Amino acid sequence: ALGYQKVVEENRNLYNMVQDLKGNIRVYCRIRPIFNVEAKNVIDHIGDDGSLVVVDPLKPQKDKRKIFQFNHVFGPTATQYDVFRETRPLVRSVMDGYNVCIFAYGQTGSGKTHTMCGPAGGLANELGINYLAVNDLFQLSDERKDIVEYRIQVQMIRSCASDDSLVLPDATMCPVKSTTDVINLMKLGEGNRAVGSTAINNRSSRSHSVLTVHVHGEDVSGSILRSCLHLVDLAGSERVDKSEVTGDGLKEAQHINKSLACLGDVIAALAQKNSHIPYRNSKLTLLLQNALGGNAKTLMFAHVNPEGDSFGETMSTLKFAQRVSTVELGAARANKESAEVLELKAQIDNLKKALANKE
Ligand code: ADP
Ligand code: MG
Repeated sequence: ALGYQKVVEENRNLYNMVQDLKGNIRVYCRIRPIFNVEAKNVIDHIGDDGSLVVVDPLKPQKDKRKIFQFNHVFGPTATQYDVFRETRPLVRSVMDGYNVCIFAYGQTGSGKTHTMCGPAGGLANELGINYLAVNDLFQLSDERKDIVEYRIQVQMIRSCASDDSLVLPDATMCPVKSTTDVINLMKLGEGNRAVGSTAINNRSSRSHSVLTVHVHGEDVSGSILRSCLHLVDLAGSERVDKSEVTGDGLKEAQHINKSLACLGDVIAALAQKNSHIPYRNSKLTLLLQNALGGNAKTLMFAHVNPEGDSFGETMSTLKFAQRVSTVELGAARANKESAEVLELKAQIDNLKKALANKE
């Protein structure tokens, strides 16, 4: 059985290497269970090959079915670990100097926070990617401790929608030594727990929350690598009905739609290989700039609530995700430099300084 496990693992690594060659945006779709027993299921078929067929409960005819293709589709019975297993090689590449961005997209209630953090209340066996990823990075750091000396720092950011500003709930950068440090930091970051679950839900559905892990490593030869992993729980992608919100709420909703639209624009520009990518149009895209396109690997989770009532939002999520998955980028480069290059760079800097002083 172990031999088999090894083959599976090797195949998975191979699959990821092929992925790396093909480009660096991949899209996984995750479908949450149906909670309303009376709801119709819009999912018609989930293929092993990443295909997904959905059906409008109001137009169930065969020729009206919609077919999508992603890198992988996780059905309602997939566990947190099933999801992490497919994400792990990407996460691990951060320790080799690659910038990685993982973001969860989808309407409110579709399972974004479940995937990234875990269920509310945080059952130990249901921890999300944030914990599993950080834990894995510490494990890798420990495994390699004789070859590379790693320093890991973490940053929690919540983008508050009302003015598109970024809020750093805690000290900007926290050095962390263990997964427990990170869990404590995330609890701190969540803050304001006393405002009640509805208020938290409302707030989290209208703001993005970003956990960034910064990695610095120095190996025995003196090579230095620097990289970061962004773990992003995006605001709900649903269109907000203007009649439902007024005043600040409306402003907030408009900003969220704007920053998600900006994300879409950036992705579209990357897809068209434009020379100008509009990162600067929102704080969110500016923050993720070094991990979207160019030199980074990106993974998007498209979250789906399969209940019939959500069919409209599901279609818009799947269409957006399909657009993202067509983006082709070149192979990512690791941010790693040898001791010689670093030495030469330092010399150039010193020469420049000497020159500037002369002038
Ligand atoms: P979002 O963050 O997109 O608004 P949540 O992650 O809060 O959605 O999910 C809404 C509810 O559905 C939560 O109670 C969550 O625990 C549950 N849920 C989401 N995805 C799953 C899943 N794959 N399996 C079991 N429960 C899930
Ligand atoms: Mg959420």
